[in-house]
Amino acid sequence: MKKPISILMSLIFMCVAFVPDALAGTFRKNTVVMGTALEMTIDTAGEEAAETVFSSVEREMKRIEGQMSEWIEGSPLTEVNRAAGVRPVKVPGELFNVISAAMKVSELSGGAFDITWASMRGLWDFRAGHERLPSPEEVKKRLALVDYRDVVMDASSSTVFLKRKGMAIGLGAIAKGYAVDKAMEAVIASGVTNAIIKAGGDIRVQGVGRAGEAGWDVGIQDPRDRGRLMARLTLSNASISTSGDYERFFMKDGRLYHHIMDPKTGYPATGTRSVTVIGPDTMTTDALSTAIFVLGPQKGMELAKKLPGIELMIIDNMGVVTASGGMELRR
Ligand code: ADP
Ligand code: MG
Repeated sequence: MKKPISILMSLIFMCVAFVPDALAGTFRKNTVVMGTALEMTIDTAGEEAAETVFSSVEREMKRIEGQMSEWIEGSPLTEVNRAAGVRPVKVPGELFNVISAAMKVSELSGGAFDITWASMRGLWDFRAGHERLPSPEEVKKRLALVDYRDVVMDASSSTVFLKRKGMAIGLGAIAKGYAVDKAMEAVIASGVTNAIIKAGGDIRVQGVGRAGEAGWDVGIQDPRDRGRLMARLTLSNASISTSGDYERFFMKDGRLYHHIMDPKTGYPATGTRSVTVIGPDTMTTDALSTAIFVLGPQKGMELAKKLPGIELMIIDNMGVVTASGGMELRR
């Protein structure tokens, strides 16, 4: 079961790779949306038709970003954050639903997933050249503002209220997954039945890949050896999300600090190196991959087992790989 640490050190570069054969009429486009690399692969009649579909995907993702980004001035989410401790803010139904879904994942994970982590915003900076490690005092003070139970949701008025001044919500661990789901809806609405949308570590596969097959042949790549797959599955109409400590991080005094925070400590979660979750929709897999990253292998696996249709592969901080029954591990 156990793998040597030395080998698995390199797994921090893990990413998810797809291995479908080239299909006649398969078109691909790479671009950047929501600050993330977006890769779209669709099976369609011709280049012109493909371009139309690609544009509808980009439009849809930008629309969602405009609602759910905490950085776009005037977005409904920035209004919620600005009114923290003052008043409830009426938000569009989609934003209300995504925040509600985030609350459910918080409850399921006992607070390991918490969108009010953003109350600590500014303390940490992971951008190259801007690295910032906060003092323990700063962390302690701001951590007092992190608590999803202080987010008051009112479905009848579609309002969100952050109870305390200084609190903030950040949807970085769930909105991209939601956007991928909506993007795939746009693809399907245009009549395409075979498609993959990959936005960073969040992926949706639609259809079966090749005619007559049971689904897309999906591999989770070993970064140490690009030709080697750690796990493989056949997926149809499913979502895959990966959260890793290698996405955004800096090193200081020999320690790695990364962007997935443990809301209990205010510091990056320490038990996990990488998590891949497979499930029925991308909003769920996106949020769960972050939640399980924070929970660590044992509690993470317990949670995954309770949830129908969820498969999980997790690499702990020692490089030990554990997977749920539905994943075929390649050793
Ligand atoms: P990525 O952004 O690389 O896809 P994730 O989906 O795991 O990775 O989301 C990580 C992001 O989620 C962080 O950059 C931050 O915006 C936010 N975040 C960090 N810690 C938490 C947490 N404990 N709960 C909810 N969101 C978090
Ligand atoms: Mg996530």
